[in-house]
Amino acid sequence: MNLINKKTVKDFNYKDKTVVVRCDFNVPIASDGEIKDDNRITASIPTIKYLLENNAKVVLMSHLGRPKGEPKVEFSLKTVADRLSELLERDVLFLDDDRVVSEDVKNKVKDMKQGDIALLQNTRFRKEEEENGEEFAKELASLGDIYINDAFGTCHRAHASNVGISSHLQSGLGFLVEKEVEVMGKSLDSPERPFIAILGGAKISDKIGVIDNLINMVDTIIIGGGMAYTFLKAEGYEIGNSLLEEDKIELAKKLIKKAEAEDVELILPVDIIVAKEIKDNTETKEVSISEIPVDMMGLDIGSKTREIFMEKIKKGKTIVWNGPVGVSEIPIFANGTNGIAKAMAESDGITIVGGGDSASAVKRSGFVEDMTHVSTGGGASLEMLEGKILPGIAAISNK
Ligand code: AMP
Repeated sequence: MNLINKKTVKDFNYKDKTVVVRCDFNVPIASDGEIKDDNRITASIPTIKYLLENNAKVVLMSHLGRPKGEPKVEFSLKTVADRLSELLERDVLFLDDDRVVSEDVKNKVKDMKQGDIALLQNTRFRKEEEENGEEFAKELASLGDIYINDAFGTCHRAHASNVGISSHLQSGLGFLVEKEVEVMGKSLDSPERPFIAILGGAKISDKIGVIDNLINMVDTIIIGGGMAYTFLKAEGYEIGNSLLEEDKIELAKKLIKKAEAEDVELILPVDIIVAKEIKDNTETKEVSISEIPVDMMGLDIGSKTREIFMEKIKKGKTIVWNGPVGVSEIPIFANGTNGIAKAMAESDGITIVGGGDSASAVKRSGFVEDMTHVSTGGGASLEMLEGKILPGIAAISNK
């Protein structure tokens, strides 16, 4: 996919135009209805401000949670409209309609002036959204003249509000998606070497595509987290109660062989932190991988491993990280993951962190500001690392 060729928000003249913008306002909401983390809203501000400064009429849309195609008050975007209004220090008209688009909504958009901004109700209140329904896509498109996609988090999905709509309007990428595409796309296309991938997280099964794709590109793959134990088992170690995907042992063996054949260095832990339970303040021990007690499980990398991983990472010129190398939500098992973040921060290479759990882990580590790029989309960034074409980006007009 030639991503450089896609139109962006800067490629249009907005005079007398209405722009429909797909944002990712899928923010975590607490049980009292409060927004717990407004990062995704603040991340959308540069595109919105640019459009307002260029005198566009701006109509925003997003999904929130999983209302499963029905209007549900707990998934209303009203709180997002209020927060956005505070952040922008101007009124945001909330177009609260269970059908998302209706005659009433269309009329209200018509009555808006250039430089005004509105937010539609949750696009997933309509079941046609996730089905990429043609009629719903047309209804959304009927609200404007230009469509901008600034929701990286949904780019791996083909829905009406991000893919369907683009068949009916000229379209471009917002700043947020453009940055994701530029940093990740370019690094994967022509990486500076050594190119190092660190893969962790719970399961191999979630990351097979990523490992398979990256083995063809990187110089080194570092494996930690829950998935390391299936690799260790494949190497003949006894792993006690550690996470094991029995049906993936053969695959792990194949991946080890493939790495050898491609001359890719594949590094596994040499020591680990074990415990009997996954909870804070539980008793822990550091053991070599050849001495894992039968009644304990590996929940973090050990200190020798941490040193080996960190030394390697510091020498990287392109470093991509997806998945914590331990149960890093619990502080006593977070040392390895924090070490990875520190080594990346200290390297002078390009450092990219996949979204989701890895993004939260790097935030907890305190090194988030030192990364070249922390992706805003978990699933979407994984699919990019798998080498897949993201439908939400592919659908955008070429220059
Ligand atoms: P993922 O979403 O695949 O990146 O997985 C992230 C999850 O993997 C986090 O919730 C971690 O707690 C978990 N995890 C990391 N290391 C381990 C481990 N050694 N055993 C069990 N779970 C782990």
